[in-house]
Amino acid sequence: MSGRQYPTAVDVVIVGSGPTGAAYARILSERAPDASIAMFEVGPTVSQPPGAHVKNIADPAERSRAQAASEGPGARGEKVASPGAAKAGVRGARPGTFLLEEGFAFEGEDGLPVAAMSSNVGGMAAHWTGACPRPNDSERIGFLPDLDELLAEGERLLGVTTDAFDAAPFGDLVRDRLSAAVDEGRTAATRVQRMPLAVHRRDDGRLVWSGSDVVLGDVTRENPRFTLIDESLVTSVISTDGRATGVVVRDLRSGAEHEVRARFVVVAADALRTPQLLWASGIRPEALGRYLNDQAQVVFAARLRGVEPAASDAPVTGLAEQSGVSWVPFTDSMPFHGQIMQLDASPVPLAEDDPVVPGSIVGLGLFCAKDLRADDRVEFDDAHRDAYGMPAPRIHYTLTAHDREMVERARREIRRLAEAIGDPVGDQPFTLPLGSSLHYQGTTRMGVADDGTSVCDTDSQVWGVAGLYVAGNGVIPTATACNPTLTSVALAVRGARSIAAVFAREHADAALSER
Ligand code: FAD
Repeated sequence: MSGRQYPTAVDVVIVGSGPTGAAYARILSERAPDASIAMFEVGPTVSQPPGAHVKNIADPAERSRAQAASEGPGARGEKVASPGAAKAGVRGARPGTFLLEEGFAFEGEDGLPVAAMSSNVGGMAAHWTGACPRPNDSERIGFLPDLDELLAEGERLLGVTTDAFDAAPFGDLVRDRLSAAVDEGRTAATRVQRMPLAVHRRDDGRLVWSGSDVVLGDVTRENPRFTLIDESLVTSVISTDGRATGVVVRDLRSGAEHEVRARFVVVAADALRTPQLLWASGIRPEALGRYLNDQAQVVFAARLRGVEPAASDAPVTGLAEQSGVSWVPFTDSMPFHGQIMQLDASPVPLAEDDPVVPGSIVGLGLFCAKDLRADDRVEFDDAHRDAYGMPAPRIHYTLTAHDREMVERARREIRRLAEAIGDPVGDQPFTLPLGSSLHYQGTTRMGVADDGTSVCDTDSQVWGVAGLYVAGNGVIPTATACNPTLTSVALAVRGARSIAAVFAREHADAALSER
């Protein structure tokens, strides 16, 4: 699938190999098998099949190498996996990710001190937790009538399941206790439930976490007209007379630049680097980089009361499985997304080893939705370059008074949930540094009109540049608190279908004219 032969012209160029770029490749492979597709990824291939989750790599040393290879070209920051370290003032990135070296905060603003990215085939989804909740209430995109069908398609592409942890002994107990605390008055969709996860269990019992490999699927890998070329930086999108006509891509191994003509260009380069590439290409709609929103996050832990060690025959997978992963959905009246998980599976381990019943320490995380403001933005500084030589990102970001109130409310709410589950561990919930969510949204947001408040239309096509599509969490126009990847993959499905429809129409026209 990978090769160094750069094409001179294809039907579709996809920039970035994370799950949203992969969704375009998959849908096009299914619906427009005659279309030629070139996917360019700036990072290296770190897992097999390309894009696979690094947690599926059994050998710890090999897994560490895959993580380190994903951490970009800049100075390596200290790795931090715990709120304790963040509390101690360490500005660090999670394994497999790297931070902005500069420009993450400005005087008098909050900034996003730990805004992070991954550069590897598969993007962040080679490192993610795989939580795939559907948005609820005001998180939903009201102007998309087909949102539920798109989300279902996103679940298919990501291989989302809810039963992977069913053998875990304490999951039901945790959910029963949470339900008693929050379910009153909620609809079925918003009651406490198992977290939908992009994971499946193999016949031998091992968990397999979905990455872009699952999104691509065999249909893409076996598509002879699909090429994935790694270590290739797309430096600009070429557009002529309001139409995208190709890209300039730099082979990072040789330094050679190639121009690749294309009828469609999809930029799926994450919520910071998608606007960066548009900016570098001189495509600068008014809303580009604006409405940036991260989900402020508070975490806490509780010890389950009254539980006995459970004899578990669950296979050893490197993850404690006793509690499963539970979900307290966002509602407008309790506007937090709750992710309740056993510590080993959490991106943020919350407590030291404890000589108590295995699995009885439960990590709680609440994510908050942000007030959307055009002033919260990533700008690009043409006079300064990032480690790839692209215009350097500069983040201007401030919590509103309401945002701060919501963080305080989340702290009270998480304590209440911890007490409902058992005995809180530690004195206080911890508020993570801004940017910790890894869920940056809004920077290439979707809208119904080209009125300066959005970058693309409801098919993700950039206003005023026909054939140019954007993908990723940046496209989400609402302030979500839930993990956004399922939603952004759903939006990618819509965009990919609209491109596939062009090929289908051309086929139909050609067939007609042959008659
Ligand atoms: P990405 O996956 O970020 O991929 C973008 C790709 O584009 C990258 O590989 C990048 O190298 C490439 N690229 C950028 N610029 C260029 C360029 N100019 N040329 C070529 N290539 C370029 N989300 C959830 O929904 N649920 C979770 O539970 C969850 N947990 C997470 C836990 C961790 C530890 C991490 C790191 C992330 C987590 N996320 C989670 C976030 C999730 O991984 C992202 O939302 C998702 O990967 C975004 O997909 P994407 O395709 O838009 O972008």
